[in-house]
Amino acid sequence: MQEQSDTLILTEKVLWQECTGCRRKEGCEQFEEFSKILHCGAGNGSFSVSYNGIFRLCSSLWHPDMTYDLRNGLLKEAWEVVVPEVRNIRSSSKEFFSTCKSCPIINLCMWCAAHAHLENGSPETRVSWFCEVAKARAAELTGDPRWLTCEPWEMELPQQRALHDAIEPSARDRHE
Ligand code: SF4
Repeated sequence: MQEQSDTLILTEKVLWQECTGCRRKEGCEQFEEFSKILHCGAGNGSFSVSYNGIFRLCSSLWHPDMTYDLRNGLLKEAWEVVVPEVRNIRSSSKEFFSTCKSCPIINLCMWCAAHAHLENGSPETRVSWFCEVAKARAAELTGDPRWLTCEPWEMELPQQRALHDAIEPSARDRHE
């Protein structure tokens, strides 16, 4: 049971650690999934359209490469072609892979590709003040001030486990 819990906490971190030691990235299903920029459900069952006809997978996702202008095309094309294309966009940023994509406290963080783009102009970047808030939440939940001073992915497994255990089961169920 404990082993399973460790896997739940560290799945993406382990993935990236495995990937860094592996030469076969292209064609690897696991890496293809890991490197996708969108990991939320945007576009899976809903979309947004602005007052001027800009189609987005969610209301916050305004990156120009991820939108579609319905004044120049069809809703059918937006839904059937653009949505899968955007959901399939992949990153090649090693910094992104080793930070937010491997972050053990991403579920306490406001980070998502749309918010990162709105804050930084890039959907594959860490947002420093999001990081500070998430670390403060982790420290408060666990009573462990080390969360405040280290990078989230540097925290050792026992501290990650303590955080996991501190999250109420109902909240944990929503995120897992
Ligand atoms: S806590 Fe920091 S590293 Fe983790 S997801 Fe948020 S911004 Fe990224």
